[in-house]
Amino acid sequence: MLKSFLDLFLKPNCPLCQRPAEKELCFYCEKQLKQFENSSAEIFWQGDLPVFIWGNYDGLLKRAIAALKYDKKVNLGELFGYWLGEKWLSSSISKQSKNLIIVPIPLHEQKLKIRGFNQAEIIAKGFCQITRYPLKANGLKRVKNTEALFGLNLQERQKEIKEALILGKDFQQKLPNYPVLLLDDIYTTGTTVKEAKKVLEKHNIKVIGVVALASTKK
Ligand SMILES: [Zn+2]
Repeated sequence: MLKSFLDLFLKPNCPLCQRPAEKELCFYCEKQLKQFENSSAEIFWQGDLPVFIWGNYDGLLKRAIAALKYDKKVNLGELFGYWLGEKWLSSSISKQSKNLIIVPIPLHEQKLKIRGFNQAEIIAKGFCQITRYPLKANGLKRVKNTEALFGLNLQERQKEIKEALILGKDFQQKLPNYPVLLLDDIYTTGTTVKEAKKVLEKHNIKVIGVVALASTKK
């Protein structure tokens, strides 16, 4: 009796609703979040830069990503990385590409200092634990503190992201033996990941595509 009473207080609360939770999330929020999962993550796996997307950037998933980034709920990021990794492993694409290197889209140092972590890197950690791919968190470096690309038109976005990324220290000494799979938290216009691909390919590193937790793309 006393033990179960204490357990109630010792359990961390769900970061999204503050109710007691057995795991990272309470049963209710986990169930709600899974409703944003795409039935097929592979429909955008085509073209110049194929994209693999876990879920729809809306509702509680949108709120959960904000909680990760701004309320620093880092555990959520790893959990999302597991979900993304599980979905990737169950896809037919993963069976065709066994050896990959994961490179998260980097934040600029100034943003990193304010936030304390790069959410894409945290998701990538979870993703790599499940998939066993090596993680190269410094495969790319962001040398320009770009403004939010969201409200800009295509030309403005391209201008803003131009020369914002360079090859990071992980690849400066030795180029990777395997193709790179880029990872980002949210995929919107694709401007940043296209630039990332361009930078890596300039150094003869093959990029097979992007995995993202959520996207506005439908
Ligand atoms: Zn909850």
